Amino acid sequence: RAESVEYVLKTAKDHNVRFIRLWFTDILGTLKSYSIAYNELERALEDGMGLDGSSIEGYARIDESDMLALPDPDTFRIMPWSNGEYQVGRMFCDIKHPSGEQFEGDPRYVLKRNLKKAADMGFTFYVGPELEYFYFKNDRSTEFLDEGGYFDLTPRDLATDLRRETIVALQDMGIIVEYAHHEVAPSQHEIDIRYTDALTMADNVMTYRLLVKEVALRHGLHASFMPKPVGSVNGSGMHTHQSLFKGDKNAFFDAKDSYYLSTMAKQYIAGILKYAPEFTAVTNQWINSYKRLVPGFEAPVYLSWARRNRADLVRVPEYKPGHEKSTRIELRSADPGCNPYLAFSVMLASGLKGIEEKLTPPAPIEENVYEMNEAERAKRGIGTLPGSLLEALKLTEGSDLMREALGDHVHKAFISNKKIEWTEYSAAVTDWELKRYLPLL
Ligand code: GLU
Ligand code: MG
Ligand code: MG
Repeated sequence: RAESVEYVLKTAKDHNVRFIRLWFTDILGTLKSYSIAYNELERALEDGMGLDGSSIEGYARIDESDMLALPDPDTFRIMPWSNGEYQVGRMFCDIKHPSGEQFEGDPRYVLKRNLKKAADMGFTFYVGPELEYFYFKNDRSTEFLDEGGYFDLTPRDLATDLRRETIVALQDMGIIVEYAHHEVAPSQHEIDIRYTDALTMADNVMTYRLLVKEVALRHGLHASFMPKPVGSVNGSGMHTHQSLFKGDKNAFFDAKDSYYLSTMAKQYIAGILKYAPEFTAVTNQWINSYKRLVPGFEAPVYLSWARRNRADLVRVPEYKPGHEKSTRIELRSADPGCNPYLAFSVMLASGLKGIEEKLTPPAPIEENVYEMNEAERAKRGIGTLPGSLLEALKLTEGSDLMREALGDHVHKAFISNKKIEWTEYSAAVTDWELKRYLPLL
C-alpha cells in the first residue's frame, strides 16, 4: 500500500490534480461520490474520510452511522475532460467503522470476501460483462435517437459519435475496450470491455455507467441502463462471461471435451443453474428487470444451458473453440441495472457451490426452449427463472447460500429495501391497466 500511496501523491502532483473524487456504492449499486481537495489527499489515504452511513441506502442505522471511506490507491485514475486549468482524480473506497474495522455492509467488501474464498480454493475469478443500454432524447420519454439495428452502421448517426467519445473516455481511464456496436433494438448500444479480475471489473462497471451517461448528457441526451424501457423491443442485458484460472491455467478448459469444458466448468454451470432462482433478485433487482425476462427478446427465461441458443440461461461461446484462454461460460440473465459487486459475488458463490457439491449439469438444450411447450419442458426437467421481483425476493430471502454470499447485513438490508419497492409497486395503477380496464369496466 505504501508504494501505491506514494505513486498517487506523485501522480496527482505532477498532473496538477486539484480535486479527488472518492467513490463507493450503496447496496443497490448507486455510485456515491464526495470530492476532496488535493491538500487533503495524503490525510485521506492515511486515515480515511468520515461519512454519515445512515444517509446511504442499506448502510447503517442512525445510532451507528459514523463511518470512514478509505481510498484504495490502486484505483487512482484521472478523470477525462479536464477544464484545462487543472485535473480531477478519482479513487474507489473501502468503507470502515471508525475503529478501522471493515464495514460488512460495503458491497465492495462483499465481493472481496467472495473472491477470497475463490482464492483459498486456488482460483482467480475473471469476468467480462456486456452492458447494453439505450440513448433517449431525455429522461422523461423513450423517444429513440435512431432506428438502427444489430451492427447497423447508420449514416450521420449521432449515436456512433457518442459511442466513440465514450470509448475514448474509457480508454483515458485505463479501461480496455474490445468492441462496440449497435444492438438489436433501435437506439440500443453495447460497448464491450476486456475481461479482468472481478473486483477490477466491478469498479470498471461503475465507471462505465457513469461515463456513458456523462457523454450523453454532454450532448443533451439521456443514456439509460433500465432493463426494459420499451416493451415491444429487446431489453438491455449484462451478459457476464466467467472463468476460473489457476495461475496461468484456465480451470474451465479441457481439450478433450466436445464443448472444450472441464468437469469443473460443468460443475460451475450446474451450480449456476441450481442457484439461479436464489440469486436472480440480486442480478435482476428491479420490478422492471422481470419485464425483460420474457420469451421472444433474446433474454433468458428457462434454466438451461447450451452452446448456440440465446434463450438459454447459460451459453458456452464458441468463437474460438479449443482456445484455452478464451474458454468461458456466459450467464445471460443479469441486467445492467444491478450492483456489480453483489452480482459478481452471487454468481461466483453459486458456481463455487456447484464445484463443492460436485454437481452434474443437465444435458445441454440446443433446440429453442422458447418453442417447447410446458409439458415438453417439464418432461426434460427445465425449470424457469422467477417471474417477478416478489417471487425472486422470497427465494433469495430463504436462501442459505445467498445469506452466506452477501453476508447477514447486506442480505437483510437488501431484502427489506426491495420489499418496500414491491409494496409501493403493488399499489401503483399502471398505464396498461388504465388502457385495458377503463373502457371495459
Ligand atoms: N438484449 C438481449 C438481452 O436482453 C441480448 C442480445 C444479445 O444477444 O446481445 O439480453
Ligand atoms: Mg448484446
Ligand atoms: Mg452476449
